[in-house]
Amino acid sequence: MKRSQYAVIGLGRFGSSLAKELIQLGYEVLGIDKSEEAVDEMSEVLTHVVAADATDEEVLRSLGIRNIDCAIVAIGDDIQSSILAAILLKDLGVKQVVAKALSELHGKVLQKLGVDRVIFPERDMGIRVAHQLVSPNLLDYIELSDEYTIAELSVPKRLSGRTLKELDPRAKFGCSVVAINKRTSVIIAPTAADTLDERDIMVVIGTNQQIESFENEVS
Ligand code: ADP
Repeated sequence: MKRSQYAVIGLGRFGSSLAKELIQLGYEVLGIDKSEEAVDEMSEVLTHVVAADATDEEVLRSLGIRNIDCAIVAIGDDIQSSILAAILLKDLGVKQVVAKALSELHGKVLQKLGVDRVIFPERDMGIRVAHQLVSPNLLDYIELSDEYTIAELSVPKRLSGRTLKELDPRAKFGCSVVAINKRTSVIIAPTAADTLDERDIMVVIGTNQQIESFENEVS
């Protein structure tokens, strides 16, 4: 199967970090930035880099942007350029356009323009860090819906040697431990007899309320 090709528009802190990671993951990445300096910094790292204004339709056309599978608009403060670049990429037929929004309103506009995915890196990271600060055992989480979450919780020392049966999260809190990451191995769908060790990571699924109660119990 052909591997997807990506274009990252705007090689600031967010765009360059995203582009580098895509390269690490083995994908081809075209980087575009109007600043020569930003382009020079990434020239050794990315598959192709071009110093160009992404709001110029002819430039995007000449770069063959329509052959790109996914373009990410990572332009920072310049909301007008971000919106123009997103419209052009959609119009030129890029299959998937992702754009970074700076504010809720910017995000709404991008959504209305038909951008496939709008991301709010600063807002989302702020929320994530707040959750992790108030719950030190919470390593990471994915919100499945407004109600349900999958969370990674680290196992504290005092629970070391306890079995899932003893902890009994399903009966006591209503949430389920769906995996235990023992770092050298992962137990998927653990049984009641499986034992926890300090620094294992439990992957738990449940409602936000259930997970919060379980977290309070294990922390
Ligand atoms: P971050 O917060 O991710 O660091 P920045 O605003 O610092 O974001 O960086 C955004 C990048 O987008 C800058 O390198 C800037 O040169 C680039 N950029 C802004 N407008 C355009 C444009 N019209 N075409 C191409 N690149 C652009």
